[in-house]
Amino acid sequence: MIKASIEQALNDQINLELASAYVYLSMSAYFEAENFAGFAAWMKHQAQEEVDHAMRLYGFVNERGGRVTLQPIAGPPVDFDSPLACFKLAYEHECKVSASINQIYALAGQEQDFATQQHLHWFIEEQVEEEATADGIVAKLELAADNKGALFMLDRELGARPTAEH
Ligand code: FE
Repeated sequence: MIKASIEQALNDQINLELASAYVYLSMSAYFEAENFAGFAAWMKHQAQEEVDHAMRLYGFVNERGGRVTLQPIAGPPVDFDSPLACFKLAYEHECKVSASINQIYALAGQEQDFATQQHLHWFIEEQVEEEATADGIVAKLELAADNKGALFMLDRELGARPTAEH
């Protein structure tokens, strides 16, 4: 049986993952409106991944005999200054998610809940990848700056992601 403190922390994380999906879907909508079809597709794919993350935790809480309690999802930002500003925000958001996962991992250690720690290993690794990916795109967008040709190429490059990975 899962401890109440861990159950609560995992429920909060389910909420954060779903809120992340909402953030990325909002970013996707922004890119759609700005005619960056590739960035939009990338963000939509990212949103779907976040739902998958939430569902991994959802399944785990149930498997451990805990109770999933869904909470209201925070409204995402809707306006962004530029593709660069948008991806910078995505990077910062992923850092926040990493910190949250790390906190739960530490709590699970205190509570000697090793099964939860084991389950979180996947998330810890995933966050390394998420931060590196977002940071890499920020770096490319900084290089592109206001060069429309470079932005167009980057948009095409990121648009290839869903077919490349699935
Ligand atoms: Fe996630």
